[in-house]
Amino acid sequence: MEAVKTIQGRSKIVIALAGNPNSGKTTMFNELTGARQHVGNWPGVTVEKKEGMYHYQDFQVQVVDLPGTYSLSAYSEDEAVARDYIALEKPDVVVNIVDAANLDRNLYLTTQLIEMGANVVVALNMYDEAQKRNIEINIDQLAELLGVPVIPTISVKGKGLQELSQQISLSANNPNKSRIRIDYGKEIEKVLGEIQDKVSICEGGENYDSRWLAVKMLEGDEGITKSVQLPDELIKMRNNAVQKLEAMWGDDIESVMAERRYGFIGGVTREVVTRHRSVEEKMSLSDKIDGIVTNRFLGIPIFLAAMWVVFQFTFTLGDPMIGWIEGLFEWLGGLFGTGLEHIGVSEMIISLVVDGVINGIGSVLVFVPNIFLLFFAISILEDSGYMARAAYIMDRFMHSLGLHGKSFIPMIIGFGCSVPAIMATRTLENKKDRMITILIAPLMSCSARLPVYILFVSAFFSANQGLVIFSLYFLGIVLAIIMGVLFKKFLFKGETSHFVMELPPYRIPTLKSTIIHMWERGSSYIRKAGTIIFAVVVLIWVLSSLPAGVEYASQGSWLGQIGSFMAPIFKPAGFGTWEASAALVFGILAKEVVVATLAVIHSVGEEALTQVIANTWTPLAAYAFMVMTLIYIPCAAAIGAIKKETNSWGWAGFAVLYTLILGWLMAVLVYQGGSLLGL
Ligand code: GDP
Ligand code: MG
Repeated sequence: MEAVKTIQGRSKIVIALAGNPNSGKTTMFNELTGARQHVGNWPGVTVEKKEGMYHYQDFQVQVVDLPGTYSLSAYSEDEAVARDYIALEKPDVVVNIVDAANLDRNLYLTTQLIEMGANVVVALNMYDEAQKRNIEINIDQLAELLGVPVIPTISVKGKGLQELSQQISLSANNPNKSRIRIDYGKEIEKVLGEIQDKVSICEGGENYDSRWLAVKMLEGDEGITKSVQLPDELIKMRNNAVQKLEAMWGDDIESVMAERRYGFIGGVTREVVTRHRSVEEKMSLSDKIDGIVTNRFLGIPIFLAAMWVVFQFTFTLGDPMIGWIEGLFEWLGGLFGTGLEHIGVSEMIISLVVDGVINGIGSVLVFVPNIFLLFFAISILEDSGYMARAAYIMDRFMHSLGLHGKSFIPMIIGFGCSVPAIMATRTLENKKDRMITILIAPLMSCSARLPVYILFVSAFFSANQGLVIFSLYFLGIVLAIIMGVLFKKFLFKGETSHFVMELPPYRIPTLKSTIIHMWERGSSYIRKAGTIIFAVVVLIWVLSSLPAGVEYASQGSWLGQIGSFMAPIFKPAGFGTWEASAALVFGILAKEVVVATLAVIHSVGEEALTQVIANTWTPLAAYAFMVMTLIYIPCAAAIGAIKKETNSWGWAGFAVLYTLILGWLMAVLVYQGGSLLGL
């Protein structure tokens, strides 16, 4: 407190009171200023402007009462006045009077003040009302989640005003821009980023916080577009982006962004408010659904059931399509085989094209329907708002284990691919939480593992397809959580911070947006087949054909020698054959290669790959092999991502090592345990 006067040698500060109508602003104004006020009009409008003054220690504080508003979108004169004053006159402190008994409605304005970059102090007013209505608010947590100071007040009784005045003078001396940002979702954030870079250098743009300006521009806020000189090119870019997004959502962008703000607020109040609702109080449909879906006991079983439905769906619908694509590649192989023979191409080249490329790539591409169906289902879960609930449920669970709940978002992304999952850990502010999440993300079963599961499940477990695949995904999640707890305990000790889990409203996903999201995720699988898988398949073929004169894909080939060398290691796990070992070795390049390698090796006979597997493996060894494929060594791209994000080859090496050991142990456990049980 000693520092108050001296820091800037300033004795006069200006504060603005902002709040919803009926939040107690007038009462607060009178309490602060002793009702000595000057009433006039805001320039150019008929809105009343009230000003007053008070002294606090060595400060002379000028108080400006802004019109009461629910929002700052500048739809009305009141909103425009309040907003322009805050943005352009830049009062030292904006005191946001919030009605504690109606926190969620009132926080909408708060989020907008924070977004503007104002130096906000929240007066949590009507605190007595809240208490009377059995609404309990965790004030420290509210302040943490909003990133601004919060002081409880009862303005009619003058309670809390001393603390509020003290905080105002403190904040005036130490201006604080909340670090909290509302996350508008991937698509909007991308456009916002692009606008933000350009808008701050426009004439007039320097007066505003650049992110806020970008938000307003994206919302199509005319008040702002008038006061900043926006180049046509920027407007055009904005309009194009908005058009695309609106067509996809079938809803206007302003509502979507408002929903995200409400999602943020819903997350905040969920965390800080404990309310004892009366049974009569009506719940909205969304609340009703959430009451069940995020229920303390039902939440996790419902999430697991949803995942099981997804895999059953993926498998049941995808299974017949596998046959069609298999047929297509068989036909292609035959066509090229006889065609090339006809024009007199050497047998070796024919083998490269047919046994290697067509067969190898085909073995990966047959799973395209499954991959797309999986992403179709996941996109529906995400677009409907369910995934956010799943993350919320897991947050609670993970928090109870001392892990950061936000970790679960990268983990869900990891169902698609570990690389974006590892990059998504950037949303974790705490370095330790982030390191843990990076290290466990590869344990989530990515889409490249799915072909391996489908191949072996088709060969052995066709009666319980969905269940077996589900068990592998589930094992991945459980191991990730166990390893996370161990890493937290032994490698990255520390407190876990709180955060806001945003819950967007439920929506019925549009077919268009689901298909777009499915394509965004699934198309990389096809691209991969055409690039890295192609290259590896050629490599495998070469290794199967050398040294010169060796029988193709025999144990004497280089591939066979590599596999035979590794095979003893996998004996205890039940798959100590040179073929399986070679598949695992090259699977490190990309996990789809596990299937492609087996296909290239087994392309010799007439039988389909599934048939060969069914004849040469046992179900138990197959399951152990799937467990190994799930856990052992992240693929090359994921290792690269770990190196990049941790900036250390050491941690990348650690991830390789621990997953290899863990995978081997688990596979051995499954095989030996299963054998003991007589499976
Ligand atoms: P404004 O519309 O924001 O200016 O709100 P007012 O100051 O006119 O207050 C609206 C009503 O709420 C009045 O009846 C006040 O007496 C009452 N009020 C204001 N602050 C409090 C408070 O902290 N507790 C309670 N219980 N009532 C309050
Ligand atoms: Mg009033």
